[in-house]
Amino acid sequence: MSHPAKRRYIVLLLLFAALLLPLLLPGSLVIPVQNATPRDWNANSFWHYPWGVSGVHKGIDIFAPKGRPVLAAGSGLVVYSGQISLGGNVVLVLGAKWRLHYYAHLQNATVQTGQWVWQGSQLGFVGNTGNAAGKPPHLHYSVASLLPYVWRRDNEPQGWRKMFYLNPHELLMQSWGK
Ligand SMILES: [Zn+2]
Repeated sequence: MSHPAKRRYIVLLLLFAALLLPLLLPGSLVIPVQNATPRDWNANSFWHYPWGVSGVHKGIDIFAPKGRPVLAAGSGLVVYSGQISLGGNVVLVLGAKWRLHYYAHLQNATVQTGQWVWQGSQLGFVGNTGNAAGKPPHLHYSVASLLPYVWRRDNEPQGWRKMFYLNPHELLMQSWGK
């Protein structure tokens, strides 16, 4: 192959991986804290309002002892692993159906940006970093779709964001006990 053709081939291959891989991955999820059960989070905490500086709570909090392993709910690409002010030590994974999985308040992360993670593999450890400082250790877990679910918007506070943020409780319960 000539050079431009080769480059085109590589670009197509990367596009294929980015566009089709999330479609091929299974959508079922595992609870992202080792040994946790649905009793470890409040089923109604998604979109709880008012909720600190975030306004509404765009995820669930899975309570666990500090140092308990945080696991990947689904397989995917780590698009960010690092430290931010609210989330503390966070890991962001792009997985099935172009959904972003956000794991926050980790004591520390054990994966790096750009790394591939399989479902159930360790991402780090439960902690209370970021704005969870001084609160009981927990994993804040959010799932956001890159494709808008336009029919899900409503008149609740920040209701338009429901086009993107999915209820992790519902997603986890779909696979629980199966
Ligand atoms: Zn939270």
